Amino acid sequence: MTVREALGRKMRRAIATAFAGLGLSLVQAIVPTQGPPLFVFTGMAVFFSAAMYLNLGIRCFQCRSRIGYILAYGGSPFWVSKRLRFCPYCGLELDTPLASVKRAA
Ligand SMILES: [Zn+2]
Repeated sequence: MTVREALGRKMRRAIATAFAGLGLSLVQAIVPTQGPPLFVFTGMAVFFSAAMYLNLGIRCFQCRSRIGYILAYGGSPFWVSKRLRFCPYCGLELDTPLASVKRAA
């Protein structure tokens, strides 16, 4: 597995979770229930948690810098753009095998 594939997997999971949260909040609109809108609150909490993880939690494997927002806004929401070739902070090539990356201490 390359760095690009590992980062893409993290990004897909975060985006899928965000969409699931959005869907959960829409359940309340489709199936109205009595009482407080718990589905809306829960769905929004899931959505914003996933969005925070996408922006702040996805880090370069080598320098530990936050690169999630660059991955997310640089191309498709489901894979890391082929045009993005290096980490902008440390220069790690994204097609490097993950096992050979030396992590920052
Ligand atoms: Zn880096």
